Amino acid sequence: MMDNATTSAFAAPHDRCEGKLNLIGLDLSELTVVLSAQGLEKFRARQVWSWIYCRGVREFRLMTTLAKPIREMLAAHFTLERPTVSLYQQSEDGTQKWLVKMTDSHEVECVHIPEQDRGALCVSSQVGCTMTCRFCHTGTQRLVRNLSASEIVAQVMLARDYLKDWPEPGQDKDVRTGGKPGYNDEDDSTRALTNIVMMGMGEPLYNYENVSKALRIIMNSEGIAIGKRRITLSTSGVVPMIKRCGEELGVNLAISLHAVTDELRDQIVPLNRKYPIKELLQACRDYPGVSNARRITFEYIMLKGINDSVADAKQLMRLLRDIPAKINLIPFNPWPSAPFECSEWSTIVKFSDILNAGGYASPIRTPRGRDIMAACGQLKSASQKLSAVDRAEIDRLIAEKEAAQGLKS
Ligand code: SAH
Ligand code: SF4
Repeated sequence: MMDNATTSAFAAPHDRCEGKLNLIGLDLSELTVVLSAQGLEKFRARQVWSWIYCRGVREFRLMTTLAKPIREMLAAHFTLERPTVSLYQQSEDGTQKWLVKMTDSHEVECVHIPEQDRGALCVSSQVGCTMTCRFCHTGTQRLVRNLSASEIVAQVMLARDYLKDWPEPGQDKDVRTGGKPGYNDEDDSTRALTNIVMMGMGEPLYNYENVSKALRIIMNSEGIAIGKRRITLSTSGVVPMIKRCGEELGVNLAISLHAVTDELRDQIVPLNRKYPIKELLQACRDYPGVSNARRITFEYIMLKGINDSVADAKQLMRLLRDIPAKINLIPFNPWPSAPFECSEWSTIVKFSDILNAGGYASPIRTPRGRDIMAACGQLKSASQKLSAVDRAEIDRLIAEKEAAQGLKS
């Protein structure tokens, strides 16, 4: 019999459903320990792992390579339950959004953005965000907690369920290699979900332990198998964690830069008061594995009259001159009571032309899913949307959060 200490060592309290431990989010060695506590041999853990992450089964009775009594034992002690979906929306452009409710009723949003030959899932790392970037709806959310590794991986599982993106036998490696089931990271022509962007709600580097554990599970080539080159982690600039992220995970890095002077960045990305632009850019230069073939993406939100001048564009190029960089211009996505407007389209194009002439690829990010409030920076759980539309209240909240983080200048 497994004692509670064995299971609680690996999981947050909300990773239980009706007293049963959710196996989603355990890494293979933890799964092995948990199952061996139930008397199962090591190779059984690999079999269960494969059913969970290659096939996406949601019920133990479907794990047909296991004897019936083992399946019954698993069902008695464990669960593969996905979080509940409180709201599901589909945009006219094909973008899908799930408002995902965790077992403790906290909610996060998760967005699938399909493209011609691929599809990215925008995954949340926290309920809300402790950062208070002035242009971001998530930053105005009162409630904040870290998501567990289980809850992060579960977003991918759930999206795959909805997208019917689990391979059928015969559609995957079974055929191509005669080997193990599941997708193959090199050949994903049949997948709906090929890329992961950690750009949903929350600051992933403020929940590094859980994010890194979840990403390792997602990257595991014997499971979901989305490789590090297909994963991008976006940060507002938690400098001390950037190196670790590169060394341990090796995923693509995106930096939410948004301003070219500390004076402005201090205001719109308050974390800058702790880690100013110079330190942030040095961490980028030092990012393990960065090269011209693997550039860092700098995200730059276009705010009318704030950061969108010709001088800003030129200064941006000067700042990035010795960093293998690409620049992503993001038209500001509005939300109720937001204190900014999006730059004029002609201004964005002009800004982009200057960068292009300076040798930077600087695509303008087409907003996706705006009609369902699924675009960058619009995410905020529905229950909170109703309450926090008052600007004064938002300002009060931001002041509170900044004080809590010691960011008040
Ligand atoms: N916390 C991380 C990742 C989530 S935000 C970060 O800040 O990088 C993902 C991206 O959306 C960031 O570049 C963020 O600055 C941007 N963003 C936030 N609010 C936005 C808005 N209203 N319109 C457009 N982009 C926004
Ligand atoms: Fe948090 Fe990113 Fe939004 Fe800033 S932009 S408040 S770091 S989610």
